[in-house]
Amino acid sequence: MLERNEEYGFNILIEKIEPEYEGEPDQVGKPKKQRNEPIKNNAEIMQSILFYSIGYGTECYFKSKELSENHLLKNCNYYKELYRNSRTNYQSRPANIDDTVVKLLSKLEYLDLVYSDPFEPKTKRVPKEYKFTKLGRMIGLLLSCYNDKTVNNSKFEITYSGINQYYESLNTTHSKFLLIFFKFCKKEKMYGEAILFRMINILLKAPNNKEYFLNQINFLDVLYRNSLQMWNIFKNSLSELRQTNNKDYEMFTYNFKLAIESVHEYKCKNKSVFEMDRYQQLKDIEQVVIEGRCNQCSEYLNGSMNIWKYLEDHVISYVSKAYVSNTLCEKCNNGYLDFQIIT
Ligand SMILES: [Zn+2]
Repeated sequence: MLERNEEYGFNILIEKIEPEYEGEPDQVGKPKKQRNEPIKNNAEIMQSILFYSIGYGTECYFKSKELSENHLLKNCNYYKELYRNSRTNYQSRPANIDDTVVKLLSKLEYLDLVYSDPFEPKTKRVPKEYKFTKLGRMIGLLLSCYNDKTVNNSKFEITYSGINQYYESLNTTHSKFLLIFFKFCKKEKMYGEAILFRMINILLKAPNNKEYFLNQINFLDVLYRNSLQMWNIFKNSLSELRQTNNKDYEMFTYNFKLAIESVHEYKCKNKSVFEMDRYQQLKDIEQVVIEGRCNQCSEYLNGSMNIWKYLEDHVISYVSKAYVSNTLCEKCNNGYLDFQIIT
C-alpha cells in the first residue's frame, strides 16, 4: 500500500493552505481547473486523523474503519460535506471511504506519524492496526493550535505536555536541553511566541523532504540572535543541564563546537591552518576555533574562544548592531578580530 518510490515530506499535511491552479485563466479571469483539489482534500483528511490522536493518545491501536466511524465521518469537514444530504446508510460509510483512509494512513506511516506492527500478518479479514506516534500527536496538537487561532489555557497545557512527551522520547542531549529550555520559556511567558508559534511556522513551511523537517524539529534552533531575554533563558538552561548531568552538558557543548567549527571551516581562507588549530583544540570541548578578520589590517586569523562567550558576543553584537570584539590582532597589534559569526 505504501508508495515506496514516491518521496514526500510534511508539506502534504498543509498543502490545502495555498491552492495552485493549472493553466491560464479563462476569459472571465477565473482559473480553469484547480490542480490540487485531491491534495487539498487529502491534507484535510490527514489533519483530521491527527486531531483524533489528541484525545485518543499514543498507547492504543485502532483500525481504519473504527477511525472513520468514531471520528472522521463525524468530525472531518470533508466527509461531513461529502455525506451531507446523502442517502448512503450510515453503516456502509466506513467501508465506502476505507480505501482512501487506508491510503492516507500509509502516508502518515511513512512520515512516522502513525505506526503499525510490521510483523503482524495482514489479510483482508484481519485489517491492519495502527497507533499514533508521539510525533504524530505533537503534529496534531500544533495543527490544532494553528486552526484554532487562539490557544486557551487548557489547550496550551495539553500542547506543552504533548511536545514534551515527544522530546522526552528522543533522549538526545539536545532534546534534554530543550526540555529545560521549554520550562524556562514557559516561566518567562515566552513559550507561545518563541516555541509554539515557531514550531507551527516550521510546519507551515515544511518542504517535500521528510528528513529536513524532522531535523529542524529534532534539533530545534535555540539561538535567538535578536533577544537578550532569550539568551538569558539559554544560559539558565545550560547551567541547569550542567548541574543535572555533566556528561549531557559536555555532549551538548560538543555538538555546538562541531557545528560552529564546520561553518567556519566552510568559509575560512586558510583551511590548512584552520584544520591544524582545530586539531590542537580537539579535546577542549568548551573551546571553539574560529576565523576572524582584523578590522584594521584586514588579515584573516584564527582565534580560539570559549564557545558560550563567542555565542554571547554574537547575540550582543546582533542586538546592538555593532560588532563587539576584544581579541587583539596578532599581525598589527592594533585592530580587533571580527569573527563574522555564522551558526
Ligand atoms: Zn590586524
